[in-house]
Amino acid sequence: MATKKKAVRSKPSGKKSNTIRLKFDTSWSYAPAPESKSAATIDKQYDLFINGTWQKPLSKKYFSTINPANEEKLAEVAEASEADVNKAVDAARTAYEDVWKKMPPKERAKYIFRIARIVQEKARELAIIETLDGGKPIRESRDFDVPTAANHFFYYAGWADKLEYAFPNRRTSPLGVAGQIIPWNFPLLMAAWKIAPALATGNTVVLKPAETTPLTALKLAEIIQEADLPPGVVNILTGAGATGAAIVNHPGINKIAFTGSTEVGKIIQRAIAGTNKKATLELGGKAANIIFEDAPLDQAVEGVINGIFFNQGHVCCAGSRLYVQESVAKEVIRKLKDRMESLLVGDPLDKNTDIGAINSKQQLDTIRKYISIGKKEGAEMYESSCRLPGKGFYCRPTLFTNVAQSNRIAQEEIFGPVLAIITFRTDDEVIEKANNSPYGLSAGVWTDKGSKIFNMTKRLRAGVVWANTFNKFDPASPFGGYKESGFGREGGLHGLLPYVQLTS
Ligand code: NAP
Ligand code: MG
Repeated sequence: MATKKKAVRSKPSGKKSNTIRLKFDTSWSYAPAPESKSAATIDKQYDLFINGTWQKPLSKKYFSTINPANEEKLAEVAEASEADVNKAVDAARTAYEDVWKKMPPKERAKYIFRIARIVQEKARELAIIETLDGGKPIRESRDFDVPTAANHFFYYAGWADKLEYAFPNRRTSPLGVAGQIIPWNFPLLMAAWKIAPALATGNTVVLKPAETTPLTALKLAEIIQEADLPPGVVNILTGAGATGAAIVNHPGINKIAFTGSTEVGKIIQRAIAGTNKKATLELGGKAANIIFEDAPLDQAVEGVINGIFFNQGHVCCAGSRLYVQESVAKEVIRKLKDRMESLLVGDPLDKNTDIGAINSKQQLDTIRKYISIGKKEGAEMYESSCRLPGKGFYCRPTLFTNVAQSNRIAQEEIFGPVLAIITFRTDDEVIEKANNSPYGLSAGVWTDKGSKIFNMTKRLRAGVVWANTFNKFDPASPFGGYKESGFGREGGLHGLLPYVQLTS
């Protein structure tokens, strides 16, 4: 790798220290290593995937999806109206009654395995399209999103003919047609999280990807066609919030699986109140990452950096609140700032890039709004000194110190690369502060003591607690929240339950 990277010693702070501090000179740069766009095929226009075929929208409307890294248009996609939703739900109902629920589970499994294998075969293309459409670094789409999506299909394919072991001494039956609505931060992975368990348990699907990132879901539709899945078992409808609402309100839908904001989650809950529809809601978060003084600090700093800057902070479980024990706060903050300076922000298709583009102009505006709120609230801001590309939506990695627990930047989900740092002295104090949040999706604990890990994980009100690591996922482990982070679990054995009726 051609690099002009040089490390320079920073000035001594005046304090005696045994460690030599290395600070990176920000003038260094790597030679560009862009992934090739030519390995991906994106059509000019996409229709709706209904009943196993591509159908023109009855609405006759299309909208553009752009590349947030350079604001260029990538493709036009159909906007599904209520009438299109009706068509898709009818197709899913017929496929459910006539084919899918009757099919022997081990036959269903073969289709899901086939989808998993084709996702693997097309991994490179899917990763490129995910990065182009959503702005995330190619390293993440390539090493995390796409392989984890394939693994979810593999994992649930394995369960399809073993439901009697998943629910011993109980009989299971599918629910019917699942309406699934997903956000823009992990488009392909969220589609896999939703579709794989639904199919494994014998349900059929109508899925809507987010408006700004529809392309990998449409590629998945092509894969589903290639896998020869019976027509109507999976239908993919692109559109905006109104399309999502039409799915939620359709009387032919038996189950809603939604991942997105708490605000829309509440709208959905109100809409389905009084109906028979089952629901799982995976909503927002404001995760506390807690560093104790006995933690391996370099490892913890790396974990915090990964926790908040991974995928530009567009992560529901992002470690956006850092609680650091007072005795090590200065050192941790210094190390964080040094590390932030070495993060590469820029072209998401470049294999060296650590932080890519913010998903949309709207999201960038939200992040900027919170940065100015943080400053107005009296917190002290630090942002990396990196240069940003002239075009596209970018945000420097940013942290705030002197944050009060009541500050909005410590309470509200920002969904961007912005970290709020608060200090603490005792275990009880940090538990009180970490749990003082409307959300409860995830948390992290960094300490050398096993007993402290057990004590903290027991008392933290969060669906997932990572210890001495952060943002780790596996299809076999369940994921989901407490409080305003939603209800229901996805992943693992637990992820089967929301898709079945236990009948005896
Ligand atoms: P969002 O605005 O709630 O949108 C999520 C999805 O719902 C999109 O497909 C959206 O369509 C659709 N939608 C919008 N209004 C709707 C309505 N009234 N009825 C039905 N569907 C509707 O969330 P987002 O901004 O895309 O995603 C970010 C949020 O997702 C964050 O809060 C994040 O924490 C959360 N999230 C949670 C998890 C988890 O597992 N807990 C995982 C990932 C993300 P449009 O695309 O057209 O708006
Ligand atoms: Mg896009």
